[in-house]
Amino acid sequence: MTNFNRRGFLKLTGGAAAVAGAVVAAPHVAKAAGGKVVIVGGGVGGATTARYLKLADPAIDVTLIEPNATYHTCFMSNEVLSGERTLDQIAVTYDGLKAIGINVVKDTVSGIDAAGKKVSTAGGQTFAYDRCVVAPGISFKLDGFGGVSDAMFDKIPHAWKAGPQTALLRKQLEAMPDGGTFCLVAPPNPFRCPPGPYERASQIAMYFQHNKPKSKVVILDRKDKFSKQGLFMGAWKELYGYGTDNSIIRWVNAAEVGTIESIDPSTMTVKTDFETVKADVINYIPPQVAGEIAISAGLTNDKGWCDVDKVTFESKVHPGIHVLGDASVATSMLKSGYSANSQGKVCAVAINAALKGQEMGTPSYVNTCYSIAGKDYGFSVAAVYKYDKEKDVIAGVAGSGGLTPGDASAEMRRREVEFAYSWYDNILKDTWG
Ligand code: FAD
Repeated sequence: MTNFNRRGFLKLTGGAAAVAGAVVAAPHVAKAAGGKVVIVGGGVGGATTARYLKLADPAIDVTLIEPNATYHTCFMSNEVLSGERTLDQIAVTYDGLKAIGINVVKDTVSGIDAAGKKVSTAGGQTFAYDRCVVAPGISFKLDGFGGVSDAMFDKIPHAWKAGPQTALLRKQLEAMPDGGTFCLVAPPNPFRCPPGPYERASQIAMYFQHNKPKSKVVILDRKDKFSKQGLFMGAWKELYGYGTDNSIIRWVNAAEVGTIESIDPSTMTVKTDFETVKADVINYIPPQVAGEIAISAGLTNDKGWCDVDKVTFESKVHPGIHVLGDASVATSMLKSGYSANSQGKVCAVAINAALKGQEMGTPSYVNTCYSIAGKDYGFSVAAVYKYDKEKDVIAGVAGSGGLTPGDASAEMRRREVEFAYSWYDNILKDTWG
């Protein structure tokens, strides 16, 4: 990877907002065509699409259906686990979307009738649409090993959807004795936020270092390598003694784990081919597929994700339905909040164009993913993407991004944390208003 050059990156993207601005501005016409758009899910992808559609043309009737009155962002939720933030500090409401005229309905979508172009809800409501957007995020495909069940999550949280699960895991970490073990079972690819488990391990190691210094973090992985591995391991060496007998963190790769035989909530053990880890707190992050409604609506492929047209995010199965964010297959873009936000803007442009009978341009996308591995210790990976018509992929633009250098100065690492916090504030505003 080339060294990260922020100025070059910004020059290429024109800044994230400008990328969106350029795409959103292109097909706008003064005459409002209206049309009805129903959006399933008020997370990053759904909320961004709703907001940018309404901004593109206030005459479009936009309904957003979401079961929760408050959305908790997964991004920065690892800081809740380490006590650096409270749960309230990662909460956002839908007031900003309501204020610009979006009809926000608190309900769960229970069915999508693609032929009849209508959406029904658990609360008994029906909504007709010209275009539907499905952005339900992920659901879990539990492993077949012993002891694992949905009921288990009350005792062994996944905390991979932020909210009550995050609060539960934090409570368990606080209650854990000094000298205890936290065991994180990391998921196989592909999954939401590839650096997330390792940022989590880092944040919890930081919490232990200051509050329970005899405690340990054990990561049982289902992979032999992971996102930003060099940077994480560098941070772990510098901050948490990684590679020494006193390391707070132990990472066990897939080969060393072998098969996981069981996770037993009654004995709080994880049994692998080679060892039995006895833990005080276990965090099992299961394998993932698209959100359940995408599956029941028949939008998923045999791997559990949704194939879409990469210019418009329109489903390859059901015309008139667009799927974006984590649930979609957006080649080479990581499953991240920033990706979902960028895709939401492109999708809004595509729907606005379709409603008006206009042609859609060639979109570009952006993603930056920050990780905070310790106090004043951050790094990031950034990329700009463009649709490649020949290969039909969303591909990284050569020379457009990169990683924070491994030998970055302490000042640069500190600034990365500041950038991460400012990115967080900006994406909240950009997505939910
Ligand atoms: P979501 O944001 O999950 O939204 C889905 C929404 O759909 C939810 O609100 C849900 O309630 C709703 N929904 C589901 N089913 C239905 C239904 N049937 N009817 C109505 N509504 C429904 N990304 C980053 O960019 N940067 C980070 O630093 C980062 N850190 C992360 C850290 C962690 C620990 C985790 C777990 C994730 C992190 N992510 C990060 C990833 C990011 O949170 C996701 O990629 C992003 O939320 C995906 O957006 P989405 O819209 O696809 O799904």
